Amino acid sequence: MAKRQNKIRTEFRKNRTPKARAKEVARGYLRGEEHQDAQQRDERVSGKGELTRKRTVVGEAADVERGGLGVLPDIDKTQCLFGRVLSVFGLTSAVQADDGRVFHCSTRRILKTLSTDQRHVVAAGDRVWFLPGGDDEGVIERIEPRTHLLCRTSKRRQHILVTNVDQLLIVGSAAEPYLKPNLIDRFLLCAEQGRMRPLIIINKVDLIEPADLMPLSGVYARMGYAVHLVSAATGAGIAALRRALQGHASAVVGQSGVGKSSLLNAIDPQLRLKVGAISEENQKGKHTTTTARLSPLAPGGYVVDTPGIRQFQLWDTIPAEVIGFFRDLRPYVNLCRFPNCSHTHEAECAIKNAVADGRLDARRYESYCQLAAGVLE
Ligand code: GDP
Ligand code: ZN
Repeated sequence: MAKRQNKIRTEFRKNRTPKARAKEVARGYLRGEEHQDAQQRDERVSGKGELTRKRTVVGEAADVERGGLGVLPDIDKTQCLFGRVLSVFGLTSAVQADDGRVFHCSTRRILKTLSTDQRHVVAAGDRVWFLPGGDDEGVIERIEPRTHLLCRTSKRRQHILVTNVDQLLIVGSAAEPYLKPNLIDRFLLCAEQGRMRPLIIINKVDLIEPADLMPLSGVYARMGYAVHLVSAATGAGIAALRRALQGHASAVVGQSGVGKSSLLNAIDPQLRLKVGAISEENQKGKHTTTTARLSPLAPGGYVVDTPGIRQFQLWDTIPAEVIGFFRDLRPYVNLCRFPNCSHTHEAECAIKNAVADGRLDARRYESYCQLAAGVLE
């Protein structure tokens, strides 16, 4: 795709009041910074008042679809390093450069100004260009467009947990705790919605007769999902899982106690995650962390394993969309009598017919009903 390199008129963040802006300009001017900054960044401030204030930035126009900024400012790539944001704490981001070094970076002011509707300009997972300064410090100059977005809703706002995660590791256990297929379906819906490749991982197969899982894993395998039957205890299936993670950024989800930490340790012993730790999500009254952290894997790739990740919500899913994320049920939708069929109470419903005569898995249909109802709430 040709680069759209030009001057871009862009809006200021809406919640900035003119008064605050004026004060900052004055303060910067007194320090002689504003002038210098404007020259360096090739940007001009124009317009007055809240509605007309816009700014011209030199750079490429970008897609804002996934919560990114509408502009990719021009940067000097001979001075900057490329890296991946591992975590964000307040105003500082830990960025791992391609050579493996980790830098603690602040964010260039222009990026904050360009951000119109986000609480956090930089998110874990972002691919960024940053200007190194000092031993392990730097300034993020540009955020590359995001390919994926994992969000959670809090106080009716979309909160970005992590970006550019292309795989979702859905972990369940064959026993202790017993398998919850409906929870797997729920996470599959999240993966489909976030356009992540889901891997269904059933751990603790040492505790059962693996053949007992075949009917269930068959249902998923027929839909084209990768299913891994593994045991962190015996090492069964771990090598294949390690290969599946190489070169990807994968988020790990699943209820506590299924063996997520044990599995990640088995894949990369250097992670040294605490096994059997009571996860923060269970500690009532304690403020749970919602910021995600990427852990680099020795064989290549990253994993994200954060309590906040495990509770992420379906963002902006309307009930009518739920069916579209069920790969197995979806092909029947056009055969329903009513175009707005909800596939629940309608008499002449192709999906219900297919369930009745065994062409569709009844349990998957139940999951659909639960999720469609849950989203309605
Ligand atoms: P997490 O909460 O999902 O991170 O689960 P943990 O990794 O902390 O493991 C919970 C418990 O399950 C621990 O007591 C582990 O020793 C145990 N466990 C983990 N993987 C296996 C496995 O493959 N087989 C058996 N039998 N136990 C396991
Ligand atoms: Zn129907």
